[in-house]
Amino acid sequence: MKSGYVALVGRPNVGKSTLLNHLLGQKLSIVSRRPQTTRHRILGIKTDGRGQVIYVDTPGIHGGARRAMNRYLNRTAISSLLGVDVILWLVDRAGWLPDDELVMARIKEAKLPVILVINKVDRIEGKDTLLPFLAEANATGLFSEIVPISALKGINLAVLEERVLALLPEGEPIYPEDQISDRPERFFVAEIIREKLFNRLTQEVPHALTVQIEQYRESPTLVRIHAVIWVEREGQKAIVIGKGGEVLKRVGEASRRELERMLERRVYLELWTKVKHGWSDNERALQGLGYAE
Ligand code: GDP
Ligand code: MG
Repeated sequence: MKSGYVALVGRPNVGKSTLLNHLLGQKLSIVSRRPQTTRHRILGIKTDGRGQVIYVDTPGIHGGARRAMNRYLNRTAISSLLGVDVILWLVDRAGWLPDDELVMARIKEAKLPVILVINKVDRIEGKDTLLPFLAEANATGLFSEIVPISALKGINLAVLEERVLALLPEGEPIYPEDQISDRPERFFVAEIIREKLFNRLTQEVPHALTVQIEQYRESPTLVRIHAVIWVEREGQKAIVIGKGGEVLKRVGEASRRELERMLERRVYLELWTKVKHGWSDNERALQGLGYAE
């Protein structure tokens, strides 16, 4: 049996969370079109006859991390490289961008086997850009393997899994066979609500909000959830609520539908929007809101 940890790293928005969800066959990590959707280290555990692969989804590594939240995201992404056995470095085009150099520097320090995963091949047009990039990446001598995939369409994922297993050490499973993550249910509840907010809001508002579960009470047929949506300013609160409460109502409905599927019970969901000035640039506020390693 093989077993070990595999970190998913790369710039924001290259498809790390999409890949995790597709490999696990279940939505563990929320996904959106905007960068910096993932804010936490999330484990996705996959056990089968070949062994146990523990994928570690991370926030993207990015430059210009001036605010406390951005520093936290980079710290989380970088510390996720400690104690893993294999690194999957995702890129989403046949070429490097400046932020890739930050990733490259961290990977060289880690001195671990690295698989370069070229994602979104469903969008890369023609082979005339892909082949030269494969040759260039190969020539760096940094990569144990280079695997083009589409996380969204599920292209070449079986090959990727085989390559990952080949690089993992022999060992017994670390987690029970039926466990798929290390996070409690209420963590996923907050994330699903945050995803619905991210999908509906624009500009700076998604990055200025966070969701905190204040009450989580379950019976065999019903789960009662009270959640607070924290924003940084009164104006953002008005946007989250929307005209006549329209935005909050839609977010609540979409969240409840997905939560009922996930929890396989009726869900009673109450959402409140509150202001905590400057929470995302304040180390202590971040810790209180669940952004602590
Ligand atoms: P992360 O920030 O690296 O975790 O990226 P996400 O998984 O949140 O994905 C960012 C965006 O890229 C989302 O809109 C995904 O639907 C999209 N995406 C991810 N994988 C693919 C893919 O293979 N092909 C295409 N066309 N889009 C993808
Ligand atoms: Mg992500």
